[in-house]
Amino acid sequence: MSDRVVIVGAGQGGLQVAASLRQEGFAGPVTLLGDEPGLPYQRPPLSKAYMKDGDESRLALKPASFFETAGIDYRPGIIVAGIDRPAGEVVLDNGERLGFDHLVLATGARNLRPPLPGIDLPGVHELRGLADAARLRAMAEGVRRAAVIGGGFIGLEFAAVAAARGIHVTVIEAADRLMSRAVTPPISQRFLDFHRAAGVDVRLGALGTAVLGGRAAEGVALADGQEVAADLVLLAVGVRPNMELAAEAGLAVANGIVVDGHLRTSDPRIFAIGDCANFPLGGIATRLESVQAAVDHARHVARTITGAGQPPYDALPWFWSDQGPLKLQIAGLSTGWDDTHVLTDATGAVDTVLAFRDERLIAVEAVNQAGRHMAARKLLAGAPVMWDRLQGLDWDLRAALAA
Ligand SMILES: Cc1cc2nc3c(=O)[nH]c(=O)nc-3n(C[C@H](O)[C@H](O)[C@H](O)COP(=O)(O)OP(=O)(O)OC[C@H]3O[C@@H](n4cnc5c(N)ncnc54)[C@H](O)[C@@H]3O)c2cc1C
Repeated sequence: MSDRVVIVGAGQGGLQVAASLRQEGFAGPVTLLGDEPGLPYQRPPLSKAYMKDGDESRLALKPASFFETAGIDYRPGIIVAGIDRPAGEVVLDNGERLGFDHLVLATGARNLRPPLPGIDLPGVHELRGLADAARLRAMAEGVRRAAVIGGGFIGLEFAAVAAARGIHVTVIEAADRLMSRAVTPPISQRFLDFHRAAGVDVRLGALGTAVLGGRAAEGVALADGQEVAADLVLLAVGVRPNMELAAEAGLAVANGIVVDGHLRTSDPRIFAIGDCANFPLGGIATRLESVQAAVDHARHVARTITGAGQPPYDALPWFWSDQGPLKLQIAGLSTGWDDTHVLTDATGAVDTVLAFRDERLIAVEAVNQAGRHMAARKLLAGAPVMWDRLQGLDWDLRAALAA
C-alpha cells in the first residue's frame, strides 16, 4: 500500500506540499486539512490589492477543480486537535482519526495580542486571514481616523492604503525606526519619509498602553501620556508561531517547531514548514514569515517524501512589501550586518542598500528596482561576493553576475 500523507494547515505552505507531491509523481493518498473555510488563498494581497479593491476572486491559490484533478482530499473547516504519535494518527475536532505515514505541519502563525486594556473593544482589528481583512476593509469605509499599533510591514501596508483613501492614520511604533526587525536604517528612513509625506502621522519610540473608549474604540493611550484619537485601531505587532499541536505531541519547540536541515521534527515521520517552523539556515536557527520560505520548504519536503536524495535545505530568503508607490524587495537576510553601502536614484532618494557582514554581501534591499533585486537573488545564491569586488565594479550587481 502507498504511504499516506496528511498535511495540517491549508495555507501557502500546506497547499504547496500537496501540489508538489503530485508534481514529484507521488501517487499515494494526500489529505489537506485546514481550519479556514473556502479554497486555500494567498495572504499578501490582504493588506495590499484586496484592501484597496475588495476583490476576493484573485486570492485563491488554486481553483476548486485542481483538488479533484490532482486527487487531493482537501477538507476545509477542520481543526486538527491532536497528534497521536504512537498510533500514527491525527485527531480531528469532530473526534475522527486519520492515519498517516508522513505528517506535515504547516500551521502558520497567529497575531500577537498584547495585553492592553480595551483591546477587546469593537473597532480594534487584526489582519491575518481573509475574514479579518473583510471586516477591516468594511469598517475602514466609514472611519475618519485610524491608529495602527506596530510599524512593521503589515501595519505600514494598511497605513498606505488607508491614507490614500483620505483616512487620517497614526502609526505607533515602539522602536526608533520603522520595520526595524527586517531592514537596515536607510530603508527605514526612506519609508518614514514616504509615509510622512503621504500624511501619515508616524510616532517612533511610542508605546501604546491602552485602547481608549467606552462602547467602542476611540483612540490609543501612549506611555508618555499622549492620546491618539481613532475610530479604528489595527493591532500589527507581530505574530506567534502555531506550535501547540507539536508541543502537546512531545515534539521539540522553541520559537517555532524545531526541525533539521530536511525540515524534519524530532519525529522522523513529521515535518514542519513555513511560518511555524524553526529551521537551520547557514547553521543559524531561523524562523521566517514569508511566501518564499513556505513554498521552498514545501517543495523540499515533497522531494524528501518521494525519496529524492537532496542536500539540506538552503534556499535564499527573499521578500517583498508594497507601500503606496514603493515596492520594497529584499534578497537575503540583513540580520547581523556590520556595514552597508547605499545607492540613490536620480532624485537622491535611497533606492538600494547593500548589507555586508565581515565584508561579505549578505542582503540587498531594493526600492522600485526589480532588475537589481533579481540580480541580487542570483548573486547571493552563488559564491560569496565581497565588498572590494563590488566596489571595483562601481556597485553594479548585474556586472558582478556577468563577471
Ligand atoms: C496581511 C499579510 C500580508 C503579507 N504579505 C506578505 C508579503 O508581501 N510577502 C511575503 O513574502 N509574505 C507576506 N505575508 C506572510 C505570508 O503570507 C506567510 O508567510 C505565509 O502565508 C506562510 O505560509 P504558511 O503555510 O506557513 O502559513 P499560512 O499561510 O498562514 O497557513 C496556515 C494555515 O494553517 C491553519 N491552521 C493552523 N492550525 C491548524 C489546525 N490545528 N488545524 C487546521 N488548520 C490549522 C491556519 O488557520 C492557516 O489557514 C503576509 C501575511 C499577511 C497576514
